[in-house]
Amino acid sequence: MLDIAIIGAGPGGLGTALRLHQKGFRPTIYETVQELKPLGVGVDIKVYGTKEIEELGLLDEFRAMSVDAVDSIFYNHYGQEIYAEKCGVHMGYLHEQRFVHRGELQMMFYRAVIERLGEDAVKLGHRVTGYTQDADSVTLDIVHADGRSERVTHEAVIAVDGIKSPIRKQMHPELAEPEYSGITMYRGTTLREPIRNGHTILHIGDPRISTMIIYPIADNFEGSGKQLINWVVEVEAEETIEDWNQLGSIDDVIPLYDTVDIDYFDVQQLMRDAREVYLFPLIRHYPLDNWVDGRVVLLGDAAHAMYPRGGNGVCQAIVDARVIAEKLAEVDDPHEAFKAYDDERRVPVNRIVDNMRGEGYEVIRRMVAERTEGKPFDDIEKVLPLAEADEIFSKYHALVGQPRPGFEAGEATGYRTWGETK
Ligand SMILES: Cc1cc2nc3c(=O)[nH]c(=O)nc-3n(C[C@H](O)[C@H](O)[C@H](O)COP(=O)(O)OP(=O)(O)OC[C@H]3O[C@@H](n4cnc5c(N)ncnc54)[C@H](O)[C@@H]3O)c2cc1C
Repeated sequence: MLDIAIIGAGPGGLGTALRLHQKGFRPTIYETVQELKPLGVGVDIKVYGTKEIEELGLLDEFRAMSVDAVDSIFYNHYGQEIYAEKCGVHMGYLHEQRFVHRGELQMMFYRAVIERLGEDAVKLGHRVTGYTQDADSVTLDIVHADGRSERVTHEAVIAVDGIKSPIRKQMHPELAEPEYSGITMYRGTTLREPIRNGHTILHIGDPRISTMIIYPIADNFEGSGKQLINWVVEVEAEETIEDWNQLGSIDDVIPLYDTVDIDYFDVQQLMRDAREVYLFPLIRHYPLDNWVDGRVVLLGDAAHAMYPRGGNGVCQAIVDARVIAEKLAEVDDPHEAFKAYDDERRVPVNRIVDNMRGEGYEVIRRMVAERTEGKPFDDIEKVLPLAEADEIFSKYHALVGQPRPGFEAGEATGYRTWGETK
């Protein structure tokens, strides 16, 4: 069996280890940090991501730690409803869309790797700094947490070392420096009573001023009887470092939501009650034209860092994991297997990377703001007809690999929730 190294024990690296294990491989994972902790805030696992988790045999555990997404509702800067759609199985998909804490998802994968591959499969405190290779093997340079260095040799290497991947830098030294978009995300969590039905994702605001996305990521969080609510505010700001763990303060942003009036909860109070707030600048990483160098290949954020909008970073990484394991099981030569993976995945994923830089379906809030010149509306159907919004949503869902059930057949998909019980 091919001796494979994986660099990085994020959801992408661990998911790859689990997929390879299903195909009979026993990879070794090298991870910089000395202890894996459930870091990060919420991620939105799309139906195609839940399918991958089910195939990994982890659906029950995943369900227990996450929240089923039922409704997705869009509001303007005054809290007036623009559009709504159902999510996951409630929309007619075969799989659920679920919201989860990114770190808890990673820890679920970690537990499964330890259980299935054994404790020694994950080498913590091992930072990979570069590679050399010949026709049969790849040697990795490793720096241990205590400063010692070591070289290890494997027959093939999958680099899943995240947005700042040193392996991507070595493979593509010609790459332009990533560029700040001008927009920073404030990512926070708040513990509180469920909002609305406890299964809703809310998209609020005039994107020309600021945008806010809110969704629950855990029920009865740490036995509190409350939900852990994830929220993200996007706003133009000075550039900061691209670091998932950078702490921030929301004080400057709260006044931007003075106009928002939603009858069933207070948006500003949600921000004031935050347990934690992180800053994350939206940085443009340029899509790559090749993910393979001989017996080394890129996967997950290392291959296709994208704006963390809509959960596609995690979901695409776990799709990569399945495809690479399939190719390695089908083709003996790892270089050929990696090329087949690159052929299947790179172009469609790069399309998603490009799309994430735009607004995706969130553009409907901009359209409404522009058409109403930033004022409240009387009749949304005159501003943004339901059919026009449906068309936008259907295109987006197809792009990320989950075409909307019923749309081709001309069935109505979007709706407006007025009059229904909150
Ligand atoms: C701490 C953290 C918090 C995050 N929080 C969020 C969030 O709240 N929302 C969101 O949408 N996305 C978040 N992400 C990103 C999200 O996890 C990824 O977009 C997605 O899961 C793809 O995963 P990945 O495994 O490719 O990358 P990552 O999840 O970034 O994992 C990469 C792993 O590689 C390790 N690593 C990096 N360099 C080396 C090296 N040289 N040698 C060995 N190991 C290395 C890192 O320590 C990390 O564990 C976060 C990532 C991190 C690292």
